[in-house]
Amino acid sequence: MKTMTCKQLGGACDLEFHADTFEEMAEQSKKHGMEMFQAGDAGHLKAMNEMQELMRSPDAMTKWFDNRRKDFEAIPNNE
Ligand SMILES: [Zn+2]
Repeated sequence: MKTMTCKQLGGACDLEFHADTFEEMAEQSKKHGMEMFQAGDAGHLKAMNEMQELMRSPDAMTKWFDNRRKDFEAIPNNE
């Protein structure tokens, strides 16, 4: 089990996600992001806008995703 914060995954707060795989982690982060988006949280709206900017360039998005995956892999595994 690894732990990453919302901020580490491109979000805006210190909420922690726990997952065994990066895909699971990304999924939790996405779900949380959507909830915050629907709640109209300013910090997350800003983070989401930045993410949408990034998505305009598939290369930049892939690179960003690869880097987050490396971050995930670098985290020690806490059982
Ligand atoms: Zn958050």
